[in-house]
Amino acid sequence: MATEQTRAQLLEGKRTAEAIKQQVARDVRRLREKGITPTLAAVLVGEDPASAVYVRNKVQACADVGISSEKMELSASTTTAELLAIVNELNARDTVDGILVQLPLPRHIDDQQIIEAIDPAKDVDAFHPNNVGLLAMGRPRFVPCTPAGIIELLDQNNIEIAGANACIVGRSQIVGRPVASLLLQRHATVTICHSQTRDLPAVTREADILVAAIGRPAFIRGNYIKPGATVIDVGVNKITDHDEAASVFGSEAAKRIEAIEKRGYTLVGDVHPAEADRVAGRRTPVPGGVGLLTVAMLMRNTAQAAGWRRDR
Ligand code: NAP
Repeated sequence: MATEQTRAQLLEGKRTAEAIKQQVARDVRRLREKGITPTLAAVLVGEDPASAVYVRNKVQACADVGISSEKMELSASTTTAELLAIVNELNARDTVDGILVQLPLPRHIDDQQIIEAIDPAKDVDAFHPNNVGLLAMGRPRFVPCTPAGIIELLDQNNIEIAGANACIVGRSQIVGRPVASLLLQRHATVTICHSQTRDLPAVTREADILVAAIGRPAFIRGNYIKPGATVIDVGVNKITDHDEAASVFGSEAAKRIEAIEKRGYTLVGDVHPAEADRVAGRRTPVPGGVGLLTVAMLMRNTAQAAGWRRDR
């Protein structure tokens, strides 16, 4: 077990995300020289503050790499039929390469119908059943952004995937399942856990690579982690309580309590950072880990969409 002095190495997302964005910027420049301006349409429905921040970050990232973006902000009362009409208009417009409908949608909208209406060739989030199927078959067109970012982070840090025991906690369509597919394609031995898994810590403790995508603050404690394992923390949760922050963040607690005092909250992942630091070999921080790669991968998918559809 690692001691206090040898705490887990942090796998920061920033350097890898910057490298991806620089590559995308070069690809975009080449497309623009041919008269093709890669364009992303981002559709935001309603006033969910977290979704508004995500969309703003994505639009900013587009500007950073030279991708043109169009942000459509729709009222929370938009109906499924109205949103379908917008998606169809974006499908038909040749200059739009990528369509992103920010999830979650308001409850009255049939999100599955919307996802299935997006042209699979413009589905840069890779949620359309067509793209999900291709990924499951091991011949992906687009790879969903967060899972793609996780693989990139492992590769950039020379973490061997082939032959490793990989355990994913969470089986969502957007993270858990596609990560499992990708790790399997890279020859890991993959276990997927969920809310009905028996004796979860005993299962996760077998993992050389442990991916937590649950949505519960600091849920993965030290006893869930194999000593020396690589822990990828996908969760993004808010905590507002000083005592909770003090117990979760260890040496970083003072800084995080200050953040709560300033903003009313601080972010924590699904992994208990102070305990993971004592056991894991490496872990991704929250914020500053996987989240940064998600946006970079969206840029990569959008540039690829433009290239595949228009640069023939
Ligand atoms: P989700 O759709 O809510 O799925 C959560 C999964 O966790 C489900 O499969 C659920 O199991 C499982 N789970 C819940 N409680 C559990 C428990 N006690 N033990 C074992 N498994 C449990 O979540 P998601 O959309 O995948 O998101 C997960 C987290 O990642 C959230 O915090 C989200 O904000 C974050 N996220 C971050 C990024 C990023 O870019 N950083 C991107 C996407 C998501 P069942 O299937 O049995 O219910």
